Amino acid sequence: MDLKLRWFSNAEDRLDAWVTRQHQERVLEGRTAPVGPCPDEAFLEGIAKQSKQIALSDPRVDHAANCPVCMGRMLELQSQYQAGRRRLVFTVAVGCYLLIVAAFVVVSWRGANTPHLTDNMAAIPATIDLWNAGTLRSLPSDPAQPSPLQSVSLPRALVKVTIILPRYSRPGQYTVAVTRDQTVNDPLAQGNATSIGSDDREEVSVDLDLRKSRPGSYFLSTTHEQDQASYYYPLQIK
Ligand SMILES: [Zn+2]
Repeated sequence: MDLKLRWFSNAEDRLDAWVTRQHQERVLEGRTAPVGPCPDEAFLEGIAKQSKQIALSDPRVDHAANCPVCMGRMLELQSQYQAGRRRLVFTVAVGCYLLIVAAFVVVSWRGANTPHLTDNMAAIPATIDLWNAGTLRSLPSDPAQPSPLQSVSLPRALVKVTIILPRYSRPGQYTVAVTRDQTVNDPLAQGNATSIGSDDREEVSVDLDLRKSRPGSYFLSTTHEQDQASYYYPLQIK
């Protein structure tokens, strides 16, 4: 609606209201002649609430519009009804406000108690150098003599581990796991990656989620895709 139309509509409303007030004053002062008996309270209430069940052609409407008693009662009922509606609107508004406040409190409480995703997702870089490391071969029948063990440690966190694989390691896909014992069953954490090599030195990088582990002694295992055996290195989680 443009401004001109709105102004016209407001002016019209004001004119209607003025005519209505003038008429009400005339009725209340007893300057009109109502026709027929006074209708019951329920009917006057219906008019006051502008009920759609009341037909404007009903002669009782014409009576009420011209009877000082009915007019006075209708005005009373109308103001009660409007006050009731204002209370309802107020109650609903307060209810909505409380809901918003409650939702805000819940959201901020959760926000304060939930670790931030970005904190969790930031993997801590760690490098494990196994270039000269001795290994524990998983196959007991393997004749290779294990070299002196070299323990490595990782923090209890989401770790991006870069492993410098032992000398003579083959390039390819590796599975890196953290295990409780020298079996690959039920690993604490595990990742797969293809090794990156330069000058015969192979490196493999995987993300290991150790956040749920307990501090203690574990094993870090590496398994080459074409190798039957896994290699185990003592690992401390701190
Ligand atoms: Zn009347």
